[in-house]
Amino acid sequence: MNTIGLIDPDRLQNIPEKHWAEHEFCFHLHDLMAALLVQMEIQKAGHIRFETGSEDDRRLLASGIHILDFLDKSGRGELERRAVVNHVCNALFSDMLHFIYEALRALEKRKFTVAFSLLRKPLKEGMLIVAQMCADEGAFFDRLKADAKNLLSRRNLDEAGIKALLEAAMKLSRGCSFTNPDKVYDAVFNYHNDQGFAGLFDKATHLVTEFRRNQTEDYNLNFIFKNPEDDDIYAGGTYAQLAMLILVLHIMQIELYRRMGKASKKYQNWMLFTSVGAYEALFTKGRSRMTNFVNSNFAEFMQCRLCEAQLRIKKVNAPRLFIGERLYCEQCLADQHFPFGWLLSKVDLDLFED
Ligand SMILES: [Zn+2]
Repeated sequence: MNTIGLIDPDRLQNIPEKHWAEHEFCFHLHDLMAALLVQMEIQKAGHIRFETGSEDDRRLLASGIHILDFLDKSGRGELERRAVVNHVCNALFSDMLHFIYEALRALEKRKFTVAFSLLRKPLKEGMLIVAQMCADEGAFFDRLKADAKNLLSRRNLDEAGIKALLEAAMKLSRGCSFTNPDKVYDAVFNYHNDQGFAGLFDKATHLVTEFRRNQTEDYNLNFIFKNPEDDDIYAGGTYAQLAMLILVLHIMQIELYRRMGKASKKYQNWMLFTSVGAYEALFTKGRSRMTNFVNSNFAEFMQCRLCEAQLRIKKVNAPRLFIGERLYCEQCLADQHFPFGWLLSKVDLDLFED
């Protein structure tokens, strides 16, 4: 089974077959983030409520003051911060998702420079803003209010600064332990990592790059002679890094929504189990703890509907079950629907109490 079954196979034809499920998984993570964002908008999760009791409040409001200034001047600074952070959070994730979506579509068409040029903004810049919100909401708000131009200043965000920021944000976001700040840094910011995105981002965005770490070669302009038939971008660990980064973003997104008081623990458990499970199955070596968990806890439900054979899930088929909700019977070759998410919601999960 080379696919999870989420994307029309016609769209996958230009991607080497062994990366189909990886590509679908990245799209799945994008779709989860988009669905959560839409859900939060529908529930008006970013809105705040307060009573306007006093005569002073009424007089201040009647003066035509901006609502944020009103909150500040009427001693409701906490609420002002909440309102601003909520508002920025939704708008920022929306912006990031537009770029990630188009980048994934570009990868389907082998438009590599377009893909990496699009990924640069959400992964290199959006990621650091999201991390600042997660790590220290108060400091983020103060800087946004009084010094927004320096939110991504290199003075604070050198290698040590980025790693410290990622560490603080990831520590506060439940589920990030499937990776670590060094891996995120290496994937996005480390020019010494030949497999990472840092050099690709710059060369995809600029025709000429002059820093020695990532210089344009003589007789060349960045990427203009890149052969679209080359498979090196797919083979070079792009999807493993992309999936890790989008998953980290989604985990931070859930943490930010939790602070708005709106994230469901059940959703978080389901997302972490299925997404981290699929990530481990697709990109890591060795046994998968989620696959083992399923085989030992759900065995009584896992019989083939046609031939009644006892089914066991193999690591290679885990993404298809966890995300596509399909089970394959090796005895009669039937591919059947299996309500995995529903079943998961019936058990208490404590795999992510980190
Ligand atoms: Zn069967």
